[in-house]
Amino acid sequence: MDAMGYVGRLAPSPTGALHLGNVRTFMVAWLRARQAGGKVIMRMEDLDHPRHKAGAEEQAIEDLRWLGFDWDEEFVQSERRALYAAALSRLLAKHLAYPCVCSRRDVEMAQSAPHDGEQLHYPGTCRDRFATWAEAAATGRTPCWRYRTPPDAHVAFEDGFAGRYEMDVAAKLGDFPLARDADGAGYSLAVTVDDADMGVTEVVRGDDLLPATPPQILLYRALGLKPPAFFHVPLVVGPDGRRLAKRHGDTRIASFRAAGVRPEDIIGFLAYVSGITPERKPIGLKRLIGLFDPARLPRGPLVFQGLT
Ligand code: GLU
Repeated sequence: MDAMGYVGRLAPSPTGALHLGNVRTFMVAWLRARQAGGKVIMRMEDLDHPRHKAGAEEQAIEDLRWLGFDWDEEFVQSERRALYAAALSRLLAKHLAYPCVCSRRDVEMAQSAPHDGEQLHYPGTCRDRFATWAEAAATGRTPCWRYRTPPDAHVAFEDGFAGRYEMDVAAKLGDFPLARDADGAGYSLAVTVDDADMGVTEVVRGDDLLPATPPQILLYRALGLKPPAFFHVPLVVGPDGRRLAKRHGDTRIASFRAAGVRPEDIIGFLAYVSGITPERKPIGLKRLIGLFDPARLPRGPLVFQGLT
């Protein structure tokens, strides 16, 4: 792969079993990369996560391989903490991060990707309050690091699928959390550092993470890094319009597999509902490389009514 080539990534979090919704997003991400003759990175986002499930890493990899996915490089975030700590130090050196003792809850939430739109606004109460982390810790409350969002932090970008997206980050989020540990990293900082370090040229993920993108773009700028292109695709939802989850029945890949469903049945279904094939019939993932047309991806959420 030459230096100018496409680099994409699959970035599962080990918070539960892979289901049809995750797989449909991974399928688009994988097809974008393979169609461009590019590289696919597998990055396990296993930083201390409140919803971590034991064994979910191995299960996700096994499910993806079974479905026909492959990748060229593999990374694990928990082995990369030194990189995140170095980025945090750079922000500190530029006075762009400060310790805060206000809210444990939104910091805990910021450890993982905000899939439920749960980003809160923080007005900057602890700005300029503590000179050091130790000073903040001496209050007896548990500190976190926050980003010092500048007042002119208006971010606009052209998403490859969703189109133009804008956010006044100061008004919407204020000083968002970066990490809950002295030298740690929350979701936004870790993905920013990783996507830049791994040379990712396009981030393909669910459009529930569109609002998570502007703070990440601010971090790219603050760290002097070039943001990748973004391509946010609609989610798979249940008949009630909510993100596919347990309440919609068991759509875990492992369960389909145990019930005798074949990989080509699952891929065939997802290819059909994604506008890749004109009719629903079993097909292998690799066969889709030549058929995939992003312009035919349905613009709205995919409503899952059942696989049979
Ligand atoms: N690992 C995150 C998740 O599965 C996705 C991160 C991203 O694509 O930026 O929730």
